[in-house]
Amino acid sequence: MGYFLTQTLAGGMPSVTSGSNKYGSWQWWDEGILTFTPCQKTDQALLLSVGIHGNETAPVELLMPWVDDLLAGKVSVAWRLMVVLGHPAALTEQKRYLHSDLNRMFGGRWQAFPDSPETQRAQLLEQAVTRFWNEGHEPRRWHLDMHTAIRESYHPRFGVLPFREMPYDPEFLEWLGDAGLEALVFHQKPAGTFSHFSCEHFNASSCTLELGKARRFGENALETFATTQEALYALLAGVTATQTHQPPLYYRVTQQITRTSDNFILHMSDDTRNFTPFTRGTCLAEDGIHQSIVQKETEYVLFPNPNVAPGLRAGLMLAKI
Ligand SMILES: [Zn+2]
Repeated sequence: MGYFLTQTLAGGMPSVTSGSNKYGSWQWWDEGILTFTPCQKTDQALLLSVGIHGNETAPVELLMPWVDDLLAGKVSVAWRLMVVLGHPAALTEQKRYLHSDLNRMFGGRWQAFPDSPETQRAQLLEQAVTRFWNEGHEPRRWHLDMHTAIRESYHPRFGVLPFREMPYDPEFLEWLGDAGLEALVFHQKPAGTFSHFSCEHFNASSCTLELGKARRFGENALETFATTQEALYALLAGVTATQTHQPPLYYRVTQQITRTSDNFILHMSDDTRNFTPFTRGTCLAEDGIHQSIVQKETEYVLFPNPNVAPGLRAGLMLAKI
C-alpha cells in the first residue's frame, strides 16, 4: 500500500522525518502531512488532500504510488507540494468519520463542535496548511481535495468549487475537465469544507473532487479513475492542460436543504442519485412547518442525506448555468 500510507496508518511519525533526493527535499511535518520542495525554483504551489473522509479510499490508492516514487527520487514535481492524508484515524477504520464530519469544520468552525478527533484534526490541518501557503509566495496556488461520493450519480465524476469573489484560473477549470470531471458545481456561499478554507484565506483555486462511489481499500475499480490519475500525474510533472476533454457542465447552488430538527423528512428515496432533476413546486423536504420547495423550473439535487445532525446540510439544490 506504500510507505507514506502504511507509516501514517501505523500512527505517529516515522523515525526519519526529512530527506532529499536529486529532485528536491521532503519534510514529514506531522501525522499524514508531507511537503516536497523541488530544487528547481517554481512559481506554483499545490495542495493535494485525500482521505478527509476515512471511507473514501480510491483517491488514496490513486495518489500513494506516486508519493512513494517521489520520496524514492523516481519522479520529479513541478510544484512546491503538500500531500495530506486527511483523517488517518478514520482511514484506519475506513469510516467516514469517528464522531462528526471533518469536512464541515474548517475556517474555525471546529470551535462550535464538541471536542472530538475531528475538531482536533481540523485545527491541526488548518495550522499546517496556513504554514504551507505562507511559506511560499507563489502566484499560482491550487488545492485539489479528492473524495468519492456516498451515492450513485448521473455525473460519475464531478467537482464542487468554493464560493469565490475573483474568477477562477481558467487553466484550473480546464484541468478539471482534463481530469474527467463531467460537471462543476459553483457554491454561492462560504462553507466549512477544506477546499473552501484554502480558497477563502489563501486565495487558492480549489476544488472538492468527487471521483466515483466510496468503496473499501482493495475494492476500488481503479480503471474508472484512470483519466483522473493520468491528468494528475501530468499536472504534477508540470503539464496543466491537454484539452483532450469534453468541457464539463456548469451548475450553481440555488438552495441548501438543512436539517433543523428531529422532525426532518427528506422526500427522496435512499437510491436517489446525485443530479436527479426535480420540477418547480416539488416539495423536497419538510421540517415541522418549514418546507423546502423547488423554485426554478428545474433543480438538481446533490448530496441528499437526511441522516445528519440538526443544523447541518441534508442536501444542495442546483441549477444549470
Ligand atoms: Zn468525502
